[in-house]
Amino acid sequence: MTTLFAVVPCFNEEDVLPQSASMLSAKWNELIAAEKISADSRIVFVDDGSTDRTWNLIEGLFSENPLVRGLRLSRNRGHQNALLAGLLTAKEDADAVVSLDADLQDDVDAIDEMLDKFENGADIVYGVRRARDKDSFFKRFTAESYYKILKHLGAKVVFNHADFRLMSKRALDTLAEYTETNLFLRGLVPMIGYPNAVVYYDRKERLAGESKYPLSKMLALAWEGVTALSVRPIRLVTGAGVCSLFVSLTLIIYSIVRLCIGATVSGWTSLMVSIWLLGGLQLLAIGIVGEYIGKIYLESKRRPRFTVDTYLKK
Ligand code: UDP
Ligand code: MG
Repeated sequence: MTTLFAVVPCFNEEDVLPQSASMLSAKWNELIAAEKISADSRIVFVDDGSTDRTWNLIEGLFSENPLVRGLRLSRNRGHQNALLAGLLTAKEDADAVVSLDADLQDDVDAIDEMLDKFENGADIVYGVRRARDKDSFFKRFTAESYYKILKHLGAKVVFNHADFRLMSKRALDTLAEYTETNLFLRGLVPMIGYPNAVVYYDRKERLAGESKYPLSKMLALAWEGVTALSVRPIRLVTGAGVCSLFVSLTLIIYSIVRLCIGATVSGWTSLMVSIWLLGGLQLLAIGIVGEYIGKIYLESKRRPRFTVDTYLKK
């Protein structure tokens, strides 16, 4: 039977924690009673350096609820790092780990289906939001455009999937080999490979309290996603360089023609051509330097070069 762990990052979640803890442990008890998960299954609350009573609450839950475990980070390191800390800790005792937010916006009832897919061989099960009708137009538009931009930049992300997912121990062991510090998990996890599946769910309203993701943090995460996953912006610079070289080439021809038919003011031709030519050369040079910096950047991440799924041998 599967030993299933939940990992719940919490930052200043005192308003919502008692309620989400009781909902989660009710779910875990239900799954244990139905013999879908083993009695060793646990729920790990990760305190991401909260400044309110969150850790006291987690300590309280730990002493009264045998399902609960607590992990406290030394200071606030942000959602992605807190999540990673929880996942890598939980994987030691689990067959599979589900990550979800403390406000339970992610539907706990989708976990049954995730478990089914896991038992049918999927190492990673992505929770994907069905509709975004509860979001404001602004949030929906920006979020969906963002996923599309990431895709165009060559990053593999699952559309409308955030950090609600189930991962097998094997997948988490592989994730641990990605030692980079600029963490954007939803872009990293699809790089792991292995069989995967998708479960659709409706994202709910926050149970209580306020969002811990103000616009500034959200923009920082979005930018992290682009820069951690893609060096394609550098290529755009190279492209711009090549384009302006082409423009200068056309200008040269055009100006020579104008010169020949005598329809030009003296000085204009050399000025125009040199502006475009030098600009183009500079952009091209920056782009080429950037290509190497991009390579150094990727090398410095020391990502695993391959992951073996199966090795058949006698
Ligand atoms: N969170 C965290 N560290 C932070 C910010 C947020 O661990 O620095 C957690 C937070 O407690 C919650 C999850 O990340 O469990 C998602 O945050 P939130 O629900 O506020 O984001 P939203 O759903 O509004 O995007
Ligand atoms: Mg939330």
